[in-house]
Amino acid sequence: MNKSKSNPLTPAGKGWKEFMEPLGIRQKPKVWNPITGCPNLREWRSYDPKESDDYNIATKTRIIGCLTPSVDGVAHSYCYMADMMNRKLPHIPSAEYCYYPSRLSQPGDTKPPSIVAVGTAGDMWGWWDKKQYHENMEKVASSIKRTRHFYLFLTKFPQGYDWYINYLLKESRQSLSIPFCFSPIANMGFGVTITGMQDMERLNEFKYFCETYEHVILLKWIMIEPCFFTLEDAKSLPDDIFEGIDWVIIGSLTGRHAKKWRPKSLTLSWLVRKAKKAGAEVFLKDSLSDCFCMTPENREKLKAYPSQFYEWAEKQEILEAKA
Ligand code: SF4
Repeated sequence: MNKSKSNPLTPAGKGWKEFMEPLGIRQKPKVWNPITGCPNLREWRSYDPKESDDYNIATKTRIIGCLTPSVDGVAHSYCYMADMMNRKLPHIPSAEYCYYPSRLSQPGDTKPPSIVAVGTAGDMWGWWDKKQYHENMEKVASSIKRTRHFYLFLTKFPQGYDWYINYLLKESRQSLSIPFCFSPIANMGFGVTITGMQDMERLNEFKYFCETYEHVILLKWIMIEPCFFTLEDAKSLPDDIFEGIDWVIIGSLTGRHAKKWRPKSLTLSWLVRKAKKAGAEVFLKDSLSDCFCMTPENREKLKAYPSQFYEWAEKQEILEAKA
């Protein structure tokens, strides 16, 4: 028999792996990028008077992504993808929408069930041509079907989720013969990234999506990274800001501009308190470790995981025997 070579998923890098390893679950976190690129990435051109006296000639060109809030009128791109592109590394994808049919088999070719972050090289839920987006996402959904991984989606464009979940629901109704644990919506976490007060509209949009599909979405999560909330912001957030959310992850800006935007430990306390009041589990990333004291005793409190991972692991029988 002619067996084609299997093409397994890539192990998750440090930034993702950190929050994809729930204690007691035997699995190796992975990433999957069937689509790369991001509508928030753009070319930035600037005029340098030392190199040209023609204002129409851009003398410096680089890729920038999402920006920090401005301090003294200056904002900086904090996008890791943009930095990698500017370094012109050969394996880094371009800013444009790119779909890779050859990667569709990867979830099926990776046998032990794993927690898989989808679309980590950009943001695959954005504004692209609808017809193309729908066609490609149908293929993505089909690759996920019947696999046993736990898929984590994350976006700054939660409006992209709506069509997808409707498609999955339609599909699963058509395939009622498939047991629920293999159905396309059983093992998925839908998440949104926010960074501060300027993203409240996005958060509300995501919460509306979560409310609408409350009974079919397994895990609803929020990534607050980089955290640009000030103490005043955190205090002023409504008490029910995280209502309906299962998991909140908070991280700080990293890299050369990190010191300018470090959240205060009191700001974190307010965010954590509001998240816990809403019943969400909270995970504080290591990038915040100078803001709180991590001991083996409080590790579980500061790096908590939602029960959905354990329920999934139990179904897949990949829980470590606990002493
Ligand atoms: S959404 Fe993510 S990938 Fe896109 S520019 Fe912003 S930080 Fe970069």
